[in-house]
Amino acid sequence: MTNNALVKLQDVTQKYQTGKKEFVAVSGVNLTVSEGEYVALLGPSGCGKSTLLRIITGLQKPSEGNVLYRDRPVVGVNPYATIVFQTFALFPWLTVQQNVEVALKARGLSADERTRRSLELIDRVGLDGFETAYPRELSGGMRQKVGFARAMAVEPELLCLDEPFSALDVLSAESLRGELLELWINGGIPTKAILMVTHNIEEAVFMADRVVVMDKDPGRVVADVIVDLPHPRQHKSPRFVNIVDQVYAILAGQTQPEYVEVGTAPGEPGRTRALPDIAIGDLIGVLERLLKMPDHTADIFRLAEELRVDSDYLLRLTEAAELLGFATLAQGDITLTPLGETFAEARILTRKEIFATRIRRLPLFKWLLRMLEATDTHRLERNVILAALQLDFPPEEAERQLDLIIEWGRYSELLEYDDSSGMIFQGADVAAGSQV
Ligand code: ADP
Ligand code: MG
Repeated sequence: MTNNALVKLQDVTQKYQTGKKEFVAVSGVNLTVSEGEYVALLGPSGCGKSTLLRIITGLQKPSEGNVLYRDRPVVGVNPYATIVFQTFALFPWLTVQQNVEVALKARGLSADERTRRSLELIDRVGLDGFETAYPRELSGGMRQKVGFARAMAVEPELLCLDEPFSALDVLSAESLRGELLELWINGGIPTKAILMVTHNIEEAVFMADRVVVMDKDPGRVVADVIVDLPHPRQHKSPRFVNIVDQVYAILAGQTQPEYVEVGTAPGEPGRTRALPDIAIGDLIGVLERLLKMPDHTADIFRLAEELRVDSDYLLRLTEAAELLGFATLAQGDITLTPLGETFAEARILTRKEIFATRIRRLPLFKWLLRMLEATDTHRLERNVILAALQLDFPPEEAERQLDLIIEWGRYSELLEYDDSSGMIFQGADVAAGSQV
């Protein structure tokens, strides 16, 4: 792996001057990306992901450490690496074709050659027929394809992508991911390696061969997880889910073994861990409050006073936060984990995705999803589930647990519930098997 290394960061530290203070954005990062690798860089916002991409592409020189490209120090802009940004940085006054050709101009190709190459690239990213369109006529997904075509026009050995799908709607993101993977896997692009920044965990595991996990304060690498799954990857396959969970656990700073933490399913030997009786809106309120606290930490009882909830309820909220890996408790303090931070900062759809991945691993949800999967119509009557829960919980508690399961399941879109018929359904996403 070292002999075909493209980029190597050695003990890279980046400090920024903010006013009179010096701020360490990235500290002691070692990272190698080799030929043939698709590497995802994952971590909470502010952990220095974009900073590392700028350093790798030579747009910025680190305060300390070495940046090597094919074992030679990078001086000035790195001609072998290109970045595609999440915002579609196109020239609005140029057509699709012109936007791609611009990138080729700098390479000193003849006009004919530029035209030939750009038409070919536009075709390859699936924009055939849109050569003369202007960016404003295109959807977000199509504009991002122009961005890809333009980045690929210079045939970079290392393609750096900075959250390339995060500004797209769910469907465009999904299809563009598939198209990029296809180009990459089938050798449709001359690129030798891809380094993609994302904060979507499933996206990272879906696309990359390695997921490098960062944490912040200061920004640093905390784990390097190999994803040795063949393409096309199945979001629901046990090995996929396993790796996703592993990455979540790293971000959640999970310390207890899984069975202690989440309990067992109804009907299985061992304790069925009840869901804490809380409203999701209140949980979000607590996490958002913590996000504003110094060190993302608060004293639990002071927090109860501040949020004007009784301390019993706050304890249930903190239990839920801990169960989901959003916070840790120690000595009467509650602290957000990097995952909790990511959740609190995220927008609604990402929050739902994170929530879904977290509750999928809880035995109560695994058990219910398995039962739904086993029925022809993927639906079950409320009373059937209630009866099953009553084997593990007293009647009143079983009722409460079912209500919580439905509320959490609905929020995460893993479940749907029709109040009038009392029917519980698999969520549409689960049924379609698409979760990114
Ligand atoms: P990420 O891409 O992971 O969200 P960034 O690399 O953008 O993180 O930023 C890392 C940290 O460095 C953040 O706290 C950010 O505010 C800070 N930062 C980034 N660029 C500068 C800059 N030019 N001057 C001062 N601080 C910066
Ligand atoms: Mg960034």
